[in-house]
Amino acid sequence: MRMILLGAPGSGKGTQGEKLAHEFGVPRLSTGDALRAAVSDGTELGRKAKSVMDAGGLVADDIVVQIVESRLAQPDTAGGFILDGFPRNTAQARTLDALLRGHGTPLDLALHLEVDDEELVQRLLLRAQQQDRADDREEVIRCRIRVYGEETRPLLDYYGAQGKLVVVPGTGAVEDIFQRIVVRLAEAAGKSAFGGRRVAHA
Ligand code: ADP
Repeated sequence: MRMILLGAPGSGKGTQGEKLAHEFGVPRLSTGDALRAAVSDGTELGRKAKSVMDAGGLVADDIVVQIVESRLAQPDTAGGFILDGFPRNTAQARTLDALLRGHGTPLDLALHLEVDDEELVQRLLLRAQQQDRADDREEVIRCRIRVYGEETRPLLDYYGAQGKLVVVPGTGAVEDIFQRIVVRLAEAAGKSAFGGRRVAHA
């Protein structure tokens, strides 16, 4: 199962990505987590990324591509992976396609968690109270949602054109959303060559 998660900030990609990784027994690779780790470790890469992240913008493609490329070279991704937060624009999507094509392991599907903008803002403001993320201030949240709309939303068409897009409403209880995803993945598996572990009897 090689899958990417598409969805605005606050759409629940991280939560559902963890559950899916567990379900399929594959690692979840989050560029946001990797970047935050680099920032807290004070690496050169982290220093370059921090101001852009704090402002709600996208970190330079070469930085995130380097993170993903080295992560996908690790043996634990051989049986599949769930990419969370990458690709975030068309250039990154093309790079990922080329990379996977080079390995002879194309993407199986792109899962879109659909949540409307006002709910996203409410969720992120709540998360800001619970966690301490520098990019969870209201004006930065609105910026991240805008950047998502401009840069990342076009990927829905990109993967739709490849016949790989699966759309699931991302509202309701976490467990209900997860069940919805599992059902949709099973349907998608029935229509394509991809055979997801355990999805077949969901
Ligand atoms: P969000 O909840 O906003 O989707 P993430 O944890 O995925 O949060 O990402 C946090 C920040 O890290 C983003 O706002 C962006 O600055 C940076 N980032 C993560 N992934 C990428 C990427 N693929 N390309 C560029 N920047 C990225």
